[in-house]
Amino acid sequence: MRQLVEVKVKSKSVKKITSGYPLLSKETIETSGVTMEEGTILRLVDTNGSYIATAYYGLQNKGIGWILTRKEQEKIDKKFFVKKISEAVAKRDSFYETEDTTAFRVFNGEGDGIGGLTIDFFNDFYMVSWYSEGIYSFREDIYQALNEVVNVRGLYEKLRFNNNGQYLEQDDYVSGEKGDFPLIVLENGMKYAVDLNDGAMTGIFLDQRKVRKALRDHYSEGKSVLNTFSYTGAFSVAAVLGGSTGTTSVDLAKRSLPKTIEQFAVNGIDYEAQDIKVMNVFDYFRYAVRHNLKFDVVVLDPPSFARTKKMTFSTAKDYPKLLKAALQITSDDGIIIASTNNASFNMKKFKTFIDKAFTEANTHYQILEEHQLPEDFTVPHNFPEFNYLKVVFIKVMN
Ligand code: SAH
Repeated sequence: MRQLVEVKVKSKSVKKITSGYPLLSKETIETSGVTMEEGTILRLVDTNGSYIATAYYGLQNKGIGWILTRKEQEKIDKKFFVKKISEAVAKRDSFYETEDTTAFRVFNGEGDGIGGLTIDFFNDFYMVSWYSEGIYSFREDIYQALNEVVNVRGLYEKLRFNNNGQYLEQDDYVSGEKGDFPLIVLENGMKYAVDLNDGAMTGIFLDQRKVRKALRDHYSEGKSVLNTFSYTGAFSVAAVLGGSTGTTSVDLAKRSLPKTIEQFAVNGIDYEAQDIKVMNVFDYFRYAVRHNLKFDVVVLDPPSFARTKKMTFSTAKDYPKLLKAALQITSDDGIIIASTNNASFNMKKFKTFIDKAFTEANTHYQILEEHQLPEDFTVPHNFPEFNYLKVVFIKVMN
């Protein structure tokens, strides 16, 4: 039987929760003397004992659980999950109907009312990501609910809850048809190879869809493009299809070479005409400066935090440095596409990093476009702090 525990919300946090904030943190509730298993249902009450909301207990780096409902009578059962998933699917009507895009997010955690759970769609295959043992304890009900709401061709899952929120290695196949990977999905007519059973990542980050489209449609024609932290080269594919004169993709991971070749190949692009470098981006910058290389467009999409033998890089601390290094090899009137998915700072803060870098480099600039999460990555109403993606297109004005 699932545990049900009544917990008091500290008076200073009551208002935030009643106003719709979905996340519970250790500081929000009085937990002294209560031991709870992950997946415990929490009946949240105010200091007078009056009902506020129902949550589940689940440990993530973001917090210790998520609000599920603010209706006292609502039970957390299969019916509840059917309702939530149906609402999410209905919101993605236009995505299901669009023929030139066959990969998108169906359920975006807290934005769709259940933090710690995401569901992605790839050519009728579904991939469910679980971010805590707490939410994973509802697995059976959630899978049944998903199968009731949509036609699942095949189901895969990612368990993202080992000690530090990392992926747990396993066979990710769950049920239905087994995928014949790579699966070729479409995104605004571009092809991307994905594999739902090859470690933590699938080959494509769906939240950058609009950025790839903008790069292809408005910034690539006749331009040389440097794609740093390129992973499988998804931005490079967009650039070539947009008419780039040549792309250079740089990533440290050895797997990035065959994966990038694959992405080019499925689009009919001659990969030998494109440059793919398996190396540290910072070493590449030094190499490019030494050889006087300049690019019309430079894409910067670093991980929030990276550590190599020689150095550590944190976007929260080092983004201005990264921009200054990129500036040295950007053409005089070139474009830098600066991206980060670090949730610990917002767009306003990110722009101060951009301003700092350009001021220190004595260079004028103009912001041409800004992007955050696309519509399928729903963000809770009134809480923009969950909109982690920040992408700025910057024109260098020399
Ligand atoms: N831009 C990619 C996603 C980047 S994910 C896309 O749109 O698909 C971050 C990538 O950065 C990973 O592939 C990782 O291998 C790479 N990486 C991390 N530190 C690096 C470094 N110092 N130099 C080069 N690549 C690095």
